[in-house]
Amino acid sequence: MSDKIGRIIAKMDECGVKFVRLQFVDIHGKPKNMAIPLVRPDQIEDIIKDGLLFDGSSVEGFVDINESDLVLKPDPDTFSTLPWRPEEKGVCRFICDIYWPDGKPFEGDPRYVLKRALDKYAHLGYEYNVGPEPEFFILDQDEDGNIIPHDCGAYFDVEPVDQGTDFRRKLVMDLEALNFDVEVSHHEVAPGQHEIDFKFDKALKTADAVITFKQAIKAIVDKMGYMVTFMPKPFFGENGSGMHCHQSLFKDGENVFYDPDTETQLSEEALYFIGGLLKHAPALTAVCAPTVNSYKRLVPGYEAPVYIAYGLKNRSTLIRIPASRGKGTRVELRMPDPSCNPYLAFAAMLEAGMNGIQNKIDPGEPTEIDVYEKSMSELREMGIETLPSSLWEAYHALEEDDVIKGALGGHVYEKFMEIKHREWDDYRVRVFKYELERYLDI
Ligand code: GLN
Ligand code: MG
Ligand code: MG
Ligand code: MG
Repeated sequence: MSDKIGRIIAKMDECGVKFVRLQFVDIHGKPKNMAIPLVRPDQIEDIIKDGLLFDGSSVEGFVDINESDLVLKPDPDTFSTLPWRPEEKGVCRFICDIYWPDGKPFEGDPRYVLKRALDKYAHLGYEYNVGPEPEFFILDQDEDGNIIPHDCGAYFDVEPVDQGTDFRRKLVMDLEALNFDVEVSHHEVAPGQHEIDFKFDKALKTADAVITFKQAIKAIVDKMGYMVTFMPKPFFGENGSGMHCHQSLFKDGENVFYDPDTETQLSEEALYFIGGLLKHAPALTAVCAPTVNSYKRLVPGYEAPVYIAYGLKNRSTLIRIPASRGKGTRVELRMPDPSCNPYLAFAAMLEAGMNGIQNKIDPGEPTEIDVYEKSMSELREMGIETLPSSLWEAYHALEEDDVIKGALGGHVYEKFMEIKHREWDDYRVRVFKYELERYLDI
């Protein structure tokens, strides 16, 4: 038995763990799990070694019914007890990798998609880091059953206007117990809206953390009698929820994006990485803002990006370079929203940026004007394009982009397109209240 597994067994024994959850995500990034009741803690050794067979045909984006067997293998590095479950006879979890029964990795596993992209560049010495800023709403129900924000707070408000302090306090402590570092948490602009910013870390650990965070906040808020949504735009006329992603590349422990000798202290690699993100932005949007509703967020006037440009201090552009330099030099991409699958989104972002570095894609001069103030035709004259305005536009952009398709790989790409085509059709045939108000004319 390895030391690592020995330590896991000792910890499970100490905590009196009764259930082991084996966890993974479907193509949407939705957490899924199975719980194994433990008779003895050392059972876990075999589970880690052999994995557990499951039927993959009922999981969205996985396999067809005629080839349904897959194997879940726990990643021992992701072991933790779940602080929001009972202390006595508690629960621990592992995030799993998924394999075919013959031992080959399953190409439809989103975690594998990210690992494959990371490995490709790890061979060239690169380590990819992401620091996400997921936003979300806490919701309540009024007497008529309408879903409403749980408070009336606004940006950076304090209690009692901010009614989210206790939720966020519990969440931050639970995440710390799970070994994830939260940098800040605060009330966001819209009523009922909150944000948790993660300290940047390796992309795989961060993607695992995003899933864990979503699960934790849902469990915590549910216990307190409220609800949480990561829907990008739940309320018309209010800010939506984004998940800005701060990205950096390290090589030999140094931040590749930092160069003390240039005027902006950004390296050539940083600029080319931005060039890649800009070039592939339309297709990237399909993966990073993957729902019909995502496009109701990406409109002018609500601090969400619309125009494909980058700026240094500019928060109106798609990409911003925060002022911090040295190890903290980073590129913030602002179109992702929390409905995305973080494994797929990070893989696609990395491939877009690396394609920029490998092909020396010049991002041009930064845009330092407030792009929201300009008309569409003025922006077009400046050569600034817009992000896709619907899931359907993004879908077609993805169809045309071999780099982002390559990031997903054939299996995930095919399934993703099939699902998104259906989602779009399902949406477009419906008649909404707005249309009745506007066109009934009675
Ligand atoms: N909620 C905004 C978005 O949709 C961001 C607001 C902010 O973080 N300043 O991206
Ligand atoms: Mg923020
Ligand atoms: Mg924010
Ligand atoms: Mg931000």
